[in-house]
Amino acid sequence: MSFLLLQLAFLASSAPLSAENQEIAVIFRYDDYNNDSPTDIETKMIQALKSQNLSATFAVIPFTAVQDQVPGETAVPAPLSVNKADILRAGIDAGVLEVAQHGYSHQSIREAADYDGPLFGEDFYGDTRTEFAGLDYERQVEIIAAGKSLLEETLEVEVSCFIPPFNTYDSNTTRALEDLGFECLSAGRTGIPIQSSKLKFVPNTCELRHLKMAIETARRTSGGTSLIVVLLHPFDFVEFDKERGRYSFEEFEEYLVWIDTQDDLRVITIKEAIESINDLNMARFESYYSFHVSSTFHLLPPILDFLPYPWLFYPSEDAIREIMLKHWLLLAVFYSAVLGIAAVTAYGGGVFLFSRHEGLRTGIKWGCLALLILLAVYAFRDLEFYYSGVIILTIIAGVTLGLWVLDKKLERTNDGS
Ligand SMILES: [Zn+2]
Repeated sequence: MSFLLLQLAFLASSAPLSAENQEIAVIFRYDDYNNDSPTDIETKMIQALKSQNLSATFAVIPFTAVQDQVPGETAVPAPLSVNKADILRAGIDAGVLEVAQHGYSHQSIREAADYDGPLFGEDFYGDTRTEFAGLDYERQVEIIAAGKSLLEETLEVEVSCFIPPFNTYDSNTTRALEDLGFECLSAGRTGIPIQSSKLKFVPNTCELRHLKMAIETARRTSGGTSLIVVLLHPFDFVEFDKERGRYSFEEFEEYLVWIDTQDDLRVITIKEAIESINDLNMARFESYYSFHVSSTFHLLPPILDFLPYPWLFYPSEDAIREIMLKHWLLLAVFYSAVLGIAAVTAYGGGVFLFSRHEGLRTGIKWGCLALLILLAVYAFRDLEFYYSGVIILTIIAGVTLGLWVLDKKLERTNDGS
């Protein structure tokens, strides 16, 4: 019976959701374009996008800091240079680039080590470094507005998407963005949801090396549009950074060529995403966020890890809800099966044992119950659950249940005889 249930759950959870309306959109988000970023790679990127007829969103830092990411730096950051602006303008004119604003000067107001708050919950900013989270509203408006004006005047385009450096922000950031006419915020997967915000949220979801895996998983869901937002940085390219680099420019180009051959994908910019996908709102982002901070994934043994969990892509709200429902169903069926098998085995073992050693009955049944209570108290003391511990607890619960049911039955038999 339990095996049958488990098999049913497997079938239900591994079958793709209804195939209708299935669509996957890919966004390339290239961060940290500034006066010091590698111009040769960027020029080649624009060229490669053009020849594949694809597009990307470049997150441009309006003012380049003399020394990046140093808190308390006093040198005045330099505005986007004429040369770097010309390259962007050519890309925009060619129809392959969209420019988003990447903070003001990308300097963190605190060092990573300064922050030792909780990693999740309302104080979670995704990264311990930040240019904005914690700054007052007026200051955020001032520097975001200065960056926006510079980009818009220099590039002669409207900038409506904001990408906070280190993917960190707070509710003052979203309020400032709305008041300055921004439509969209693109941060990370675990950026905090700001309930009051009317902005569209387009989190980055993966790096280039995970793109194919993200696409394969996204193909197993449906209902609305799944978004894959690929995060690229200058330091990802080995030509620019031999140590941190993960791929060569040639490999990047190969991805572009490959993606062009995939009929079910469309490559768009962030602006195109918020215009063509109607549910990129807070509700969708909140369900995505709660998925990412849920601790129930520790309860699943690796062997049952076959649902299309959205670690690398951003499914529609309906799809996330359906995945979570299947996740809970899977957990319920798996643990019921473990409990049932343990109970039946203990019952059978008890029938055999007690028929020979009747005296052991009371001691074993109370012993199992005591062990179960003891382990449960131990497990619940820090509320950190892992599948191995929960499986053991469930087995002991099953054994206890089996023995107590048998005990009741033997009692009734004895009473009757
Ligand atoms: Zn950045």
